Amino acid sequence: MNTRLLINGKLVAGKGAHEQVLDPASGKPLATVPEASKEQIDAAVRAAGSAFDGWAATPPKDRATLLLKLADRIEAAGAGFASLESRNCGKPLAAVLADEIPAVADVFRFFAGAARTMHGAAAGEYAAGFTSMIRRDPVGVVASIAPWNYPLLMAAWKLAPALAAGNTAVIKPSEQTPLSTLELAMLLAEIFPPGVVNVICGRGPSVGAPLIAHPDVAMISLTGDVSTGEKVLAAAARGTKRTHLELGGKAPVIVFDDADVGSVVSGVRTFGYYNAGQDCTAACRIYAGAKVYDRLVADLAAAVATIKVGTQQQQGVEMGPLISAEQRERVAGFVERAQAQRHIEVVTGGKARGGKGFFFEPTLIAGARQNDEIVRREVFGPVVSVTRFKDAADAVTWANDSDYGLASSVWTRDVGRAMQVAARLRYGCTWINTHFMLVAEMPHGGLKRSGYGKDLSMYALEDYSVVRHVMVRH
Ligand code: NAD
Repeated sequence: MNTRLLINGKLVAGKGAHEQVLDPASGKPLATVPEASKEQIDAAVRAAGSAFDGWAATPPKDRATLLLKLADRIEAAGAGFASLESRNCGKPLAAVLADEIPAVADVFRFFAGAARTMHGAAAGEYAAGFTSMIRRDPVGVVASIAPWNYPLLMAAWKLAPALAAGNTAVIKPSEQTPLSTLELAMLLAEIFPPGVVNVICGRGPSVGAPLIAHPDVAMISLTGDVSTGEKVLAAAARGTKRTHLELGGKAPVIVFDDADVGSVVSGVRTFGYYNAGQDCTAACRIYAGAKVYDRLVADLAAAVATIKVGTQQQQGVEMGPLISAEQRERVAGFVERAQAQRHIEVVTGGKARGGKGFFFEPTLIAGARQNDEIVRREVFGPVVSVTRFKDAADAVTWANDSDYGLASSVWTRDVGRAMQVAARLRYGCTWINTHFMLVAEMPHGGLKRSGYGKDLSMYALEDYSVVRHVMVRH
């Protein structure tokens, strides 16, 4: 297990405070990772700055070759990456192997190809005697800050478009889940020229904050909490830096009376509780039509009660623990406050599991109302609420009445209604009769306080590059 940082092509021990990394399924320490010191943060940014001109001038096909090589190496080492990720995050090993590792490799492959197909929107004579053309060029040194829910996948979402577009990067994984990114650092060191990618570890205040404040950082990319996003914006204001923010979510799931209840139940059972609900697109806020409500609550409660909770390698495990004791307390607090309201019923789950690890039962809450905290605030745990609606207009109004705007879904057999509702929802993504599905070719990102950065797709490549105008006098 690597605990060294990657600075200017070399793996070096962090010289800052030591951070203990835990196995969330047992609560026991897995590793101790030293943070980057102030000097090491500066050295990483300077290395990225020095490598920028060379990397930006590297032809797209050569950048693509290295990204493809990285994808191959990640895939070849997939079992090791999956084991590390599952131990550090408490995730079921089989799910990491089947879902996350292929997605990580795919993202690097997509951007390897995409880098070679970027084109300007127009070239021509817009003033007599002059030819204009559009260029898309890299921004500079990108500081990438990742969260703990999908550490390696978030590293891929951030590094692949940044590097493909010709930027250099310094990435900081979450202090709670640095291990897979540190493992990745060993491959990055072998594949990329020194300084093109640097990996430093540490907490937000001691390492993240000085990294993003560094004057040589041109762009800050964050996936994290809304409050952290606001700190990034404040830091970016000093230095007028470009930002790319992917913040929280509270995805509405609108279920009309004519929906196929079986597929809603199996969809929410999967997409509401995947990764123990620690997912910014989790199907966590159901609005159910008055006629379908009772059956949906009953069937969903029965289905959710069958989710197999356990440790990473347990046979058939579907859901692991939460990331930390603190997160478990936070989730328990939301459920307790909801339960204290007379109109709310916890129909299944509702409690932290005793014993070792940070487990919380898959929980379904019925009878929730629009102004309840459980409907309005992001829980980031295995908790789904159901709210009854009579009028379709209410469902859309309530769904949009949220600080967040990342993901949403509509469940109905009526295609016309699905399209009408999708057109009115103020969310970066609306799924129809499904939820949670992502593909590298399509953008992922939000509106409102969920942020505005786009991950995946050509739109991410646009976010990580600048449009320039070059004009030639004839
Ligand atoms: P967080 O905001 O606490 O931490 C995210 C990262 O920011 C960590 O690496 C942390 O060390 C760093 N950080 C914290 N303070 C900082 C500062 N002052 N300066 C620089 N860096 C700082 O978030 P988290 O708890 O790790 O992740 C959970 C949150 O992330 C949830 O709100 C979730 O919705 C959100 N999230 C969003 C998406 C998305 O695509 N929109 C995806 C995953 C997670």
